[in-house]
Amino acid sequence: MSLIARLILLLQERNQIKCTRCGLYHDKRYTQCPHCRDMDAARLQAFLEESGIDPEAKSGVGQFLVLAVVVVVVVFLLSRFIR
Ligand SMILES: [Zn+2]
Repeated sequence: MSLIARLILLLQERNQIKCTRCGLYHDKRYTQCPHCRDMDAARLQAFLEESGIDPEAKSGVGQFLVLAVVVVVVVFLLSRFIR
């Protein structure tokens, strides 16, 4: 995924929470996930298998932020040593 696409995803996820049941993101205002609230367990399982979504998979945003911090630190250190 490109850097721009990750940034767009990060901005979109700011006002959203990840449903622990289906793994999709939905607006924080909803108390129940609009994607899976009407699905029973069997239908949810079929949906997850069809879509290939893993609800317990970690978001890539955390990894992206760690990478961004590492890049900033490396650039900072290089700028101090190259004079
Ligand atoms: Zn859901």
